[in-house]
Amino acid sequence: MRRTRGTLLAITVIAALGAAVMAACGGDDDGASPTATPDGGHTVGALKVVTTVAPITNIVRNIGGDRIELTGIIPDGVDSHTYEPSTGDARTLADADIFIMNGADLEGTSEEIAKENLPDASKIYKLADNTLSGDDPADGFLYDFSFPKAEGKPNPHLWMDPEYARSYARLTARWLGENAPGDKAYFDANLAAFEGVIDQLDAAIEAAAATVPEDNRKLLTYHDSWAYWARRYGWTVVGAIQPSSFAQPSAKDVADLIDEIKEQGVPAVFGSEVFPSPVTEQIAKETGAKYVTQLSDDAPPGDEDAPEHTYVGMLVFNMRTLVEALGGSAAVFDGFPVENTYTQG
Ligand SMILES: [Zn+2]
Repeated sequence: MRRTRGTLLAITVIAALGAAVMAACGGDDDGASPTATPDGGHTVGALKVVTTVAPITNIVRNIGGDRIELTGIIPDGVDSHTYEPSTGDARTLADADIFIMNGADLEGTSEEIAKENLPDASKIYKLADNTLSGDDPADGFLYDFSFPKAEGKPNPHLWMDPEYARSYARLTARWLGENAPGDKAYFDANLAAFEGVIDQLDAAIEAAAATVPEDNRKLLTYHDSWAYWARRYGWTVVGAIQPSSFAQPSAKDVADLIDEIKEQGVPAVFGSEVFPSPVTEQIAKETGAKYVTQLSDDAPPGDEDAPEHTYVGMLVFNMRTLVEALGGSAAVFDGFPVENTYTQG
C-alpha cells in the first residue's frame, strides 16, 4: 500500500517534533549521530550522505571513505522493492546534505520521503537512471520475468554487473566532489583504487564463468536480479520464480516453470536471501535440479565488521556459489581482495 500525502506530512511533522525534542534535551539524533553511522564514518562537519541498499551504500563508502558521514536506510536483507521508509529514516533525511539512490523504480516510496524531508530536494541523485537509458536489449534497461515491460518498471539490479558498479562509483565521485569540493582529490583517488578492484573482479568473473560447461550457463533464480550480469557474461536467464507482484507464485506459474526447467535442462535453481520461499525447493525436487539455498543481490556476506562485508565480497560470494553449483571452478577467487579499498584519513 502506498502512503498518502497525509501520512507523508505526518512523518515530516513527527520528524520535526522529534528533532525539536532532541534539541531541547540536548540529545543526539541516533540516525545522524557522527558515532552512529553503520560502517564507521565519522568526521565532524563532513558531508552527510544518505543511501538506500547495502551494495550501493558500500560503493559510496569506498568513494567517500571516512570523509563523509554515511547512512544506508534500507537494512540488509529487507525487500527494497516495496520499502517504506520509517520516521527514523525521514529524520535522517531531514538532517542530510545529499541522497544517493538506485532509482529505476527500485526503492519503494524512498524518493517521495526524500523529496518531503531532504532540506534541498534537488540533491536527490539516481545511479541507475544516470547509467542506462532507453530499452534497447543490447545496452539499455531490461524488462523481463518479474519486471515485465507492460508494468513499465525496468529490472533495477544494474549493480550485479561490475561495469555498472564502476559507473555507480564514477557518478558517486562526481556528486561527492560537487558537494564537497575540498575533498575532490581524495574521492578521485578512492575511485581509482575501487576501479582497480573492479577490473580484477570483471576478469575473474569472466574466467570463472568460462569454466562452467556451456550447456549449464543457464540461471533460474527466485528473485529476478541477474539480468544485467547475464547480459554482460553471455549467459541465459531461463526464468525467475517470483512474480511481478512480489507475491508467492501461483500453482500455474510453478507448473509452467517446472515444464520450462525440464525442457531446458536447467541444472540448478537458486533461492534468495531476501525472499525465502519453499517454492524454490519444491521446484528443484520436482525437476531433479540441484537446489542452492541462496544468492545475494542485496546483503553482503559476513557481519558488519567482516572484511568480506562489501559489494565486492557479495559478488565473490555469488560467483563461488553459482559457478560451483553449475559444475565450474571458482579457484580464481581464492585470496581475492574483497575488503574496502578507500584510503583512511
Ligand atoms: Zn532486488
